[in-house]
Amino acid sequence: MRQFYKNLSIWLIIALVALFAFNALKQQPEVFHQVPYNVFLKKAETGFLPEVTLTDNVVTWATPDGSKYRSVLPPDHQLIRKLISSNVTLNVEKVDQPPWYLVSILNWLPFVLLFFIWLLFIRKKSDQPGGKAMAFGKSRAKLVDPEHSKVTLDDVAGIEEAKEEVREIVAFLRNPDTFTQAGARIPSGVLLYGEPGTGKTLLAKAIAGEAGVPFFSISGSNFVEMYVGIGASRVRDLFREGKKKAPCILFIDEIDAVGRHRSSGGGAGGNDEREQTLNQLLVEMDGFEANDHVIVVAATNRQDILDPALLRPGRFDRQVMVPLPDVGGREKILQVHAQRTMVAEDVHWQTIAKGTPGFSGAQLANMINEAALLMTRRQAPAIDMEILEAAKDKVLMGAERRSLIITDREKKVTAYHEAGHALVAWMLPGADPVHKVTIIPRGRALGVTMQLPDEERNSQDRTYLTSTLCTLLGGRVAEEIVFNEITTGAGNDIERVSDIARKMVCEWGMSEVAGPLTFRGADPLNGQPGPIISEDTAVMIDREVKNLVQSAYSRARSILLEHRDLLDTISTALLEQETISRQDILTLVEQHSGTHHD
Ligand code: ADP
Ligand code: ZN
Repeated sequence: MRQFYKNLSIWLIIALVALFAFNALKQQPEVFHQVPYNVFLKKAETGFLPEVTLTDNVVTWATPDGSKYRSVLPPDHQLIRKLISSNVTLNVEKVDQPPWYLVSILNWLPFVLLFFIWLLFIRKKSDQPGGKAMAFGKSRAKLVDPEHSKVTLDDVAGIEEAKEEVREIVAFLRNPDTFTQAGARIPSGVLLYGEPGTGKTLLAKAIAGEAGVPFFSISGSNFVEMYVGIGASRVRDLFREGKKKAPCILFIDEIDAVGRHRSSGGGAGGNDEREQTLNQLLVEMDGFEANDHVIVVAATNRQDILDPALLRPGRFDRQVMVPLPDVGGREKILQVHAQRTMVAEDVHWQTIAKGTPGFSGAQLANMINEAALLMTRRQAPAIDMEILEAAKDKVLMGAERRSLIITDREKKVTAYHEAGHALVAWMLPGADPVHKVTIIPRGRALGVTMQLPDEERNSQDRTYLTSTLCTLLGGRVAEEIVFNEITTGAGNDIERVSDIARKMVCEWGMSEVAGPLTFRGADPLNGQPGPIISEDTAVMIDREVKNLVQSAYSRARSILLEHRDLLDTISTALLEQETISRQDILTLVEQHSGTHHD
């Protein structure tokens, strides 16, 4: 529509310019020599002028040499009779008036132009997401009407407790009057918290869809703007819109962007703004009347950093945890999403669910989507177990980059590096079993060793964490042992090692020397001021972190030195097959112990 207006105005302007140019060309002024009236009169009377042209009160003539003359006549003259009596040929012409439409266009042109510029301006403004003209302080919330939202609670799978908790809200939105008549107080705010991709947005949509009410959604980060006061006015606008459409759901995603603990730093600037926005949010929620029938649903994955004021009664006093799905949950989520595509008969969802511990709902949905894409690409009739396995690899490790050109040496180093990870993991107690090892580049990595726990892991013990450190270092150690050289390939491993080791000392109290204390420094991301640490403690912490990493390093080294021949076998297998599975490694290990061990 806007394109239409734009085109129209452009054509209009082009047409006008063309009209002008045409007219200007046509009216090229001819050059006349001006002659006084009495001179003209004398010439006419003395017979110098054989022919003249009379246009209105201007008379023009030409001399034989081609020069042109004109003279303006005074009103009320006897000229015509004189000319006729002097035998002058008299041509009378009408004044060349511009046509009426041109005249009116010319008169109206400035207004028309102004109007179009104004129109363009307005249309541009309203084209911004969710905004109308001059919508600076407008909420920018997206509105989903109940007719368009087909999401129901059946689309949400595997998080039964969370679903149960929100059913009451659905019932209220469907029948607010019975609840208010009974004197029940319905929560005005519901906070959904849990890791990204667990289905919080989906659940909020499902509440609206199930109750058949409109759903406004906005992200907390939309409130936080450069200019003080904009966020607050957006909040006001959001609630005003919501009340107009009540009963309805206002969904605020990433509420931590506004609702962060007020005392925490959070960097300079934008702080006043955030505080004002948060205050406005609190004011609006406190101003809810029992019969407003607006329910605010907010989502966050950092509920620990929210301002306590947000969680007080009358605000987000109902908190629903949306956890990562367990085996049964994953199976259901997979099935819900698989409904949209063809599935082969050999697909056993339970097996897939078992093989995807730690996957979020979004990752599972993504996996089914990748599988459907693969199915189409391979022109397979349905998704089968093999396609699903490939889709899982893609979701877990990123897309393959087969086009990346790798030298033979790089390939060999990568094979040893990955074999190092795999072998250390294989030999250590408590480490996650190796699921797959590959030297096909994926994402930014030249190779990947993927481990998957046999079952859910809800907490991590110290044995597991130290095994993880050893496994991560196994890659670098293998390079060192075999090539006596180290590469940048271990950069990411080392980063993760440092991170885990520091957390073991500072957060989880896993170092004897440091003791069971938290030493959280100021976290630059959310500005949580930690307890103040003395310089001695800082030195001690660094030493402890280093000790942990150092001992993991020597442990990995001794494992790989002890099983050096197995390291060679695995990396050879990798060079030949590019990808090996847990079963392949098991076979290799068994062959080895059969031939070498007593
Ligand atoms: P969050 O808001 O928690 O980050 P979303 O609700 O945006 O997660 O989830 C993204 C997508 O993942 C959803 O649109 C849906 O397709 C899928 N998904 C996530 N959790 C579930 C679930 N429990 N059941 C079905 N689908 C899910
Ligand atoms: Zn590595």
